[in-house]
Amino acid sequence: MAETLIWTLGVFLLGLIVGSFLNVVIHRTPRGENIAWPGSHCPKCGESLRWHHNVPLLSWLALGGRCAFCREPISKRYPLVELLNGLIWAALYLKLTPQFHHPIETAGILYFLLIAATFSALLALSMIDFEYLAVPDSVNFFALATALLAAAAHAWQTGEWALALQALKDAALAAGGLWLLAWFIGKATGKEAMGGADVIVAGTMAALLGLPGFFVALFISAILAILPSLLARDTMVPFVPFLAMGTLILYLLDQPIFHLVEHLIYG
Ligand SMILES: [Zn+2]
Repeated sequence: MAETLIWTLGVFLLGLIVGSFLNVVIHRTPRGENIAWPGSHCPKCGESLRWHHNVPLLSWLALGGRCAFCREPISKRYPLVELLNGLIWAALYLKLTPQFHHPIETAGILYFLLIAATFSALLALSMIDFEYLAVPDSVNFFALATALLAAAAHAWQTGEWALALQALKDAALAAGGLWLLAWFIGKATGKEAMGGADVIVAGTMAALLGLPGFFVALFISAILAILPSLLARDTMVPFVPFLAMGTLILYLLDQPIFHLVEHLIYG
């Protein structure tokens, strides 16, 4: 028990650090900038950040949410993304930890890291979609790739290689199905119903959740999006954040949700 707690805390801290990198991805990829170079600097005064300005959460709090040099306010998005990513990593660790039982295997750790990377990429995509109502293909395909690689790591772990093939098939069916649906709706209404980005996210979702899970997660996403869509009226509502939330909810709570769905259908 104490051991699980310490590991969960360690994974949370690792998630914070990755979250700090996600902020760089969120800020730079839509602008077409390199994510590795140059180092972090204030977008207002251009001053390079010192290491102690870069500590996740703590630096933002210590600096009162302002640049250390020019006192320009720093967006709350920075600590928010770090915190969310830390919490997501900790939750995924707790969900997957029964699979790590002794001895801790390389395949199990690899599987966890690939799943965590996929959800981190979905978090970055969500934040970018909120701001731009569009997402970069590079991050989108990264998420699809890590989701498929996670299925391969899971197959390696269990020795059931059919699982990896199944994930690939499910991803292709979900992405292809959604593309076809969007094409039909587009033809019928003369309006573009869904973007290519949603189609790639659908592939990622199905690789993570399987095809039945994909449909349930899509349904949860649609329910979550109803209220914001009604409130927003004329302005466009980004859909990727809701797809990501629906995916995370089903991934973490798959058993109780599938029980509920079975209960609703078969009584
Ligand atoms: Zn500054």
